[in-house]
Amino acid sequence: MAQINRDMSGVHWADTSKEAAFVEDRSLRKGDYDIAVVGGGYCGLSIALHAASAGQSVVLLEAGSVGCGASGRNGGLVVPHFPGGMTADDAGAVLGKAKGERLAQLVADGPQIVFDQIRALGIQCDAEQNGWIQPAHSEKAMQKVQRVYKSWTARGVEAEWLDAGAVADRTGATGYLGGWYRKSGGTINPYALALGLARAAVARGADIRQQTEVTGIRSDGVSKILHTNTGDIRARKVVIATNAYTPALYPSLAQSVIPVLLYHGFTRPLTADEQHKTLPTRVCFTDLRKSGGFSRYSADNRLIIGGAIFRPSNHRAYSFSHSRRRLAELFPHLKNIQIDSYWEGYCALTDAYLPAIQRLESNVYSVIGFSTRGVALAQTLGREVATFLCESKTEAEMPVRVGDIQPIAMQGVKTFLGGLAFPAYQLRDALRLT
Ligand SMILES: Cc1cc2nc3c(=O)[nH]c(=O)nc-3n(C[C@H](O)[C@H](O)[C@H](O)COP(=O)(O)OP(=O)(O)OC[C@H]3O[C@@H](n4cnc5c(N)ncnc54)[C@H](O)[C@@H]3O)c2cc1C
Repeated sequence: MAQINRDMSGVHWADTSKEAAFVEDRSLRKGDYDIAVVGGGYCGLSIALHAASAGQSVVLLEAGSVGCGASGRNGGLVVPHFPGGMTADDAGAVLGKAKGERLAQLVADGPQIVFDQIRALGIQCDAEQNGWIQPAHSEKAMQKVQRVYKSWTARGVEAEWLDAGAVADRTGATGYLGGWYRKSGGTINPYALALGLARAAVARGADIRQQTEVTGIRSDGVSKILHTNTGDIRARKVVIATNAYTPALYPSLAQSVIPVLLYHGFTRPLTADEQHKTLPTRVCFTDLRKSGGFSRYSADNRLIIGGAIFRPSNHRAYSFSHSRRRLAELFPHLKNIQIDSYWEGYCALTDAYLPAIQRLESNVYSVIGFSTRGVALAQTLGREVATFLCESKTEAEMPVRVGDIQPIAMQGVKTFLGGLAFPAYQLRDALRLT
């Protein structure tokens, strides 16, 4: 299990959030609840928001502060696509055709749902819906990108194919052979989004308690009793949305995901001249490099850096040198640009790179495993889970697997090896094997 990092200092998103700090409303506290949500990231917040909107009494328990996990630390790219080269057919091969198509619909529609909700709730998170591109950095990536594009357009999804020149015109980046574009993608300040979701959930009656860590769950036959560092809480149903930070509340639960430590940071703000040459349309993009080929602006015109952490290294120094090289490769005019900030956070992978709803005992579920595509999907699946907990939808209607805990074989070994893999990723990318 990944260590919860309660400290948001140095995270650019927290330093620049236009959403006010989250304030708990103690008048909402009561003895027991219909639903208890464990974890105050996008998934838990979305469940709380939508279940409270449907009239359920909801308590959300967060060990740190809302958004202190991956939700406040991610890159803020809102992407209308599965991870990497995955297609709806690939998802269908894992989930069965009906669930695969349902999930594909949720993934394709996700950014529009998220941007619409941001507007409806008045969340001040610097939302920019300028589109997203998946460009191909190699011949091998080109084949995958073409397959992905065909899979989406065969399903009637509005997408545009871009040749090498069009990718270069829209991104200002060098070295891409082509790619596909969807205008529904975009960027947000992720921490501000978490704060805004919490504010909206409380406005709809959800009781959100921070610095409240769930340490155990037991049943008295009628209710679930959640033990926390601030006392016991009772609820009819419980959902655990703790991502890579998932504690061992149930045997093997923490082994059902692999925590991967990632970093992000920002360059200094770009000058007007540099902005003409760099993402001139303010589009964002994510390629298929395993060592991280992506870009976006912050609201104050800085360019993002990021990748996976190489554990044995001095994290910051190693990450900066990799990011400088990647920036020089994508945007040669930004060679040696100053990098101003750096922070780390965990994402959670499953074997299939897809989240699952796990049944831990009667009326207790977990929803974890959003990989690096959780900005939209953790919110949209959270909304689906709320309808399930409210009994408006069945398990079969959920767009992901619903079942017993599936621990990952050799999870400890894979987690350890994952922390050593980054140089191998860099080499494979350099040799155009990805
Ligand atoms: C560096 C990084 C970059 C990323 N970039 C992107 C991106 O650009 N686009 C994208 O789509 N996705 C991205 N992701 C993935 C995305 O951020 C996650 O998938 C998403 O935020 C997961 O949300 P969540 O609610 O499941 O988990 P989290 O936001 O991690 O929330 C889990 C919460 O559970 C709490 N918790 C844990 N244990 C307990 C307990 N016992 N009691 C109470 N609370 C507990 C934690 O404190 C934490 O706040 C990135 C992730 C990382 C780390």
